[in-house]
Amino acid sequence: MEEYVIDIEAENKEIRKRYRALLRACKPTLQKGDKQEIRKAFDLALESHKDMRRKSGEPYIYHPIAVAQIAAEEIGLGTTSIVCALLHDVVEDTSITLEEIESLFGKKVAKIIDGLTKISGVFDPNSSIQAENFRKMLLTLADDVRVILIKLADRLHNMRTMEFMARHKQLKIASETSYLYAPLAHRLGLYAIKSELEDLSMKYTDPDTYKFIAKKLNEKKAEREKFIKDFISPVKEILLEQDINASVFGRPKSIHSIWNKMRKKSIPFEEVYDLFAIRVIIDTEYEKEKTECWKVYSIITDLYRPNPDRLRDWVSTPKGNGYESLHTTVMGPRGQWVEVQIRTKRMNEIAEKGFAAHWKYKESNTDNGLDQWIQKVRDVLSNPEQNALDFLDDFKMNLFSDEIFIFTPKGTLIQLPNGATALDFAFEIHSDIGATCIGAKVNHKLVPLSHPLQNGDQLEIITSSKQTPKEDWLNFVVTAKAKSKIKSSLKEEKRRVAEDGKEILERKMKSLKLTYNTDNINKIANFFKYPSSQELFYNVAKGIIDIKNLRDYVASEKTHDLVTQNQFNSHISGLVEKIDKRNADTILIGDDNQKLDYTLAVCCNPIPGDDIFGFLTVNEGIKIHRTSCPNASKLMANYGYRILKARWASSQMDHAFITGIRIIGIDDVGLVNKLTTVISQEFNVNIRSLSISSNEGIFEGNIMVNINNIEQLDNLINRLKLVSGITSVTRYESEN
Ligand code: MN
Repeated sequence: MEEYVIDIEAENKEIRKRYRALLRACKPTLQKGDKQEIRKAFDLALESHKDMRRKSGEPYIYHPIAVAQIAAEEIGLGTTSIVCALLHDVVEDTSITLEEIESLFGKKVAKIIDGLTKISGVFDPNSSIQAENFRKMLLTLADDVRVILIKLADRLHNMRTMEFMARHKQLKIASETSYLYAPLAHRLGLYAIKSELEDLSMKYTDPDTYKFIAKKLNEKKAEREKFIKDFISPVKEILLEQDINASVFGRPKSIHSIWNKMRKKSIPFEEVYDLFAIRVIIDTEYEKEKTECWKVYSIITDLYRPNPDRLRDWVSTPKGNGYESLHTTVMGPRGQWVEVQIRTKRMNEIAEKGFAAHWKYKESNTDNGLDQWIQKVRDVLSNPEQNALDFLDDFKMNLFSDEIFIFTPKGTLIQLPNGATALDFAFEIHSDIGATCIGAKVNHKLVPLSHPLQNGDQLEIITSSKQTPKEDWLNFVVTAKAKSKIKSSLKEEKRRVAEDGKEILERKMKSLKLTYNTDNINKIANFFKYPSSQELFYNVAKGIIDIKNLRDYVASEKTHDLVTQNQFNSHISGLVEKIDKRNADTILIGDDNQKLDYTLAVCCNPIPGDDIFGFLTVNEGIKIHRTSCPNASKLMANYGYRILKARWASSQMDHAFITGIRIIGIDDVGLVNKLTTVISQEFNVNIRSLSISSNEGIFEGNIMVNINNIEQLDNLINRLKLVSGITSVTRYESEN
């Protein structure tokens, strides 16, 4: 028996110490009586969690204290939220009831705790519940945004302290975080939290790359700091001369965003030039903000030459999530592009703390996109018919995208996600205008409904009372609002047509002497492979199923038993064939390392040595993906219960696996020959396919090869990098 020694006295001391640190963090917002409320919440949380411990063995109370501290310090929330953060797990995990919370802390606190309890269930193994939970979470956003902010603080602390959890849970939570929580934090303007969530998530889903970039960053740290110092010292001097009160410093880019850049542009770490940005934060009054920002811009661009294509003015027109800042990219002293971000203290607080800071400064800010966004969330959620997963996909698109601004004929500014079309605009104005839209004029020129809009376009919508929403409209709208309106209108239309079809079918069945009952209707629907009776009625009404087809059905009924037996036999023989061909002993699947049938996913082409997991698909058995696969996070976040543990039986295998290599270099005579010689002769690796493009002297090749394991791949990549003229060699990942 292992003995676990707990020093209660030392722990109590530590708890008190952490509580005092929390109080210090709350200080800026404390008002009379607040301290007592926080104390009351702390005492209740301490008492009710007293017998609970975290996976790490630490007292459970460390968690609510930490969540409250994040809420206060990193999001800037006030006393009500601190109280709720301290109590956020009490109703769910202990015997305390919501009624007791209400009598002790009042209605408001009880309502937020209720919201937090309802949207919990992160560890719930059921998939659609996960999507449903997220939908519920957004519903509470329309009620009280503090529920979401506390939930984000909770998630951040769980991500920071995940090392003691089982690997498959780490993967699921990390994926969910990058798929849902990080975009949500971004949309709420919590940039610092968003970056940290992305980095922490990558640390678990793609640990090798994470460690690699962290190591590279650390190696060049001193050099980078010297560069920053040289860059900012003349700036500081002039700021001082001109009596502008500002702080200037270098701000490192997150590991996740560096990796994103490397992947998107297929470049090695060494070629990512913006590993950091320079930030200038001006301390000034609200009235002088804009002038001071441009004054600093002028100082910077007098010292360093700006890139005219890289000026971003979010001071005149803030981003939809409230972000305000002036960005420019200038040529540094050593011929290197450097991004400079200029903003005031107020703008910076909004950028870091997002929503909470936005409320704080609300009086001074007349028009902010966040209010519009929350209104949009309400609109989308008000459609109760939409399937939770569909909703999630639509909504996520809207979470991610940047905005464009479009003018109405009267000059009102309408904000839409990037990629929006004329039809999206019509639905944004009013759902009736969207539903009856037949065309549009962009800058006075006639365009079709599918016309993609550009920032600054002026748009006039043309409608006709005879128009109704069409199925193909769904192919070119991007806003969640337009999608949900079109879908529900199509559904309504389909229901109406199906009603007619039902009557027609009833008559036809009578003439064929078939009884009209549920059993027979289901049999007929099955025969024609329609998922529901409604679908059958609809196709009857549209004339796709007529009397002749129904006669086929009647004929088939007579030979019914025979057919199914035959189908069954062929199904079984198909399975046997599959089992014969499998290479089941290469990968061990599940908790008991079983040898099961599987296929390798083509989106990420795993090879021995890769970190992998199994995914149970509906029609194609078990698929093996890499944990760093671009699709993995979506799968794990939505279908956690279909994820299977998987590992390579051994990394030394004579079996070959397909993998892709992307090579970029300077086009030169004989380059292809040199590459293929290395691959097929030196390494004795088979080339499966080769696609090469050359553009203005830049060579780009995608080569699919048969590889035995990750070691062999790494060696090959390193060798190819040595071929003269080659600038980058990376493992190729499919875009989807
Ligand atoms: Mn919690």
